[in-house]
Amino acid sequence: MNDKPEPSPEDNRRLLDTLLPRKDELKARERIAIPAQPMPAQPARERVRNMSEVALGYAHDQARLEALRCLQCKNAPCVKGCPVAIDIPAFVKAIADGDTADAIAIIKRNSLLPAICGRVCPQETQCQLDCTVGKSLKDVELSVSIGRLERFAADWERESGRMLPPEVKPETGRKVAVIGSGPASLTVAADVRREGHAVTLFEAFHKPGGVMMYGIPEFRLPKAIVQLEIDTLKAMGVRIVTDYVVGRTRKLKDLLERDGFDAVFVGTGAGLPKFMNIEGENLVGVFSANEYLTRSNLMRAYDEGAADTPIRRGRHVAVLGGGNVAMDAARTAVRLGADEVHLIYRRTEKEMPARIEEVAHAKEEGIRFHLLRNVKRILGDETGRVVSVECLKYELGPPDDSGRRRPVEIPNSEYVLPMDTVVVAIGNDSNPLIPQTTPEMETNRWGNIVVNENNRTSMPGVYAGGDIVLGAATVILAMGQGRQAAAAINEQLREETKS
Ligand SMILES: Cc1cc2nc3c(=O)[nH]c(=O)nc-3n(C[C@H](O)[C@H](O)[C@H](O)COP(=O)(O)OP(=O)(O)OC[C@H]3O[C@@H](n4cnc5c(N)ncnc54)[C@H](O)[C@@H]3O)c2cc1C
Repeated sequence: MNDKPEPSPEDNRRLLDTLLPRKDELKARERIAIPAQPMPAQPARERVRNMSEVALGYAHDQARLEALRCLQCKNAPCVKGCPVAIDIPAFVKAIADGDTADAIAIIKRNSLLPAICGRVCPQETQCQLDCTVGKSLKDVELSVSIGRLERFAADWERESGRMLPPEVKPETGRKVAVIGSGPASLTVAADVRREGHAVTLFEAFHKPGGVMMYGIPEFRLPKAIVQLEIDTLKAMGVRIVTDYVVGRTRKLKDLLERDGFDAVFVGTGAGLPKFMNIEGENLVGVFSANEYLTRSNLMRAYDEGAADTPIRRGRHVAVLGGGNVAMDAARTAVRLGADEVHLIYRRTEKEMPARIEEVAHAKEEGIRFHLLRNVKRILGDETGRVVSVECLKYELGPPDDSGRRRPVEIPNSEYVLPMDTVVVAIGNDSNPLIPQTTPEMETNRWGNIVVNENNRTSMPGVYAGGDIVLGAATVILAMGQGRQAAAAINEQLREETKS
């Protein structure tokens, strides 16, 4: 992590005072010499006792200094790395110039959810990966912190009360149903509603927001920020219907044939947890990360005084996996009061799919990493409760289909670790209900809905996007797909109105 040592606010002000008068003439080497700004964060020993956001956001001077590090490259490799092609040099320059209102306006041309993406996007593998500053300093962690600057601009807009709902064109009388309420669906709802079409969003849970509400914990993504996006949709006139399971409450086809919707978007995500299919996985004390995180986040089980939701407050917790979901589960277990949290992963840290920042935060919070290890079976007592896990050691072999080196079991390397709780976080498959109850819609062998380049499915008037199409992916990719699908839906309705 590039987060140490931290310059004081006075140091930053002094540095800014020397740089700002010449800000447009600064040479590349002067920009590169500006220290990368660390993200202020709650100290680890304090944050493990609360659910509040860990990263606190840049102060104004920090943001301007960080923005001054940008070289304004003509070829903008950062934009090529952004799935929604935000004009990054332009918004970063606006921050350097002190015009945050312009910065957020530039971002919002391409991204509807900047406060969310600025917090959870894997920038180190996207926009920041090929940043010239990072390349010059030979460290991707020293790239310009584009995500933190995006968050700064979005937070500034929200906190200064300037967030206005987008304008909605006059009513067209056309009706669109949006199924699910994750980032793909929220984007579709906003972009379609803007054109004046009536939008109804159907969500299976009692609260909209998808994984951003039920999966990603409060300490990484405050729910108030997600709620604000939902409130904005409501203010635009989007009708939100919760506790409505399409495929059960109503079939997808009925929405078109009986309920009078002119188009339907399916954004039902990848919420079906994968299990390891090993002995002991049905013991009391074994959870999917989905269930564990949903109990804690959506049902607020961590807030014992305010919620009735039960959750297991294990003392010795094993989390199996190495992605963002595993980090979120492990860090939640710490906050729920575990004495020890063990993260067990088959490969090395280099192959971990989790964001670098999340891995670093997890380590700071005392989570013990068991790398090149996997659980062979879970052992229970006579009452059916977990008492330990039997692990196996691994080594890395040649690369597999994912391009990562394959973990290979070391024979006879078994050993036992005492545990009372096991959280399985090895990935998710697509939600199967709509594909199962809509046999006329084409899916692939993983159960993902097949779409064309405009996110149209094989059923006329039905579009899909996000994890239900891509398999478990990211917020920004889901949002990008939502944009594409909304454009196609708006086009369909425009064409139909003409004819
Ligand atoms: C714990 C966790 C942490 C993550 N961390 C990150 C991260 O740091 N950065 C990142 O970019 N990505 C992260 N991801 C992935 C990211 O959240 C997803 O890629 C993204 O949310 C997918 O968006 P979506 O719109 O496709 O669907 P989702 O967000 O999955 O939302 C789908 C919604 O559809 C609803 N639904 C399902 N079936 C039906 C039905 N039949 N009828 C009505 N509603 C239905 C579901 O209840 C859900 O609310 C994480 C995922 C998890 C689980």
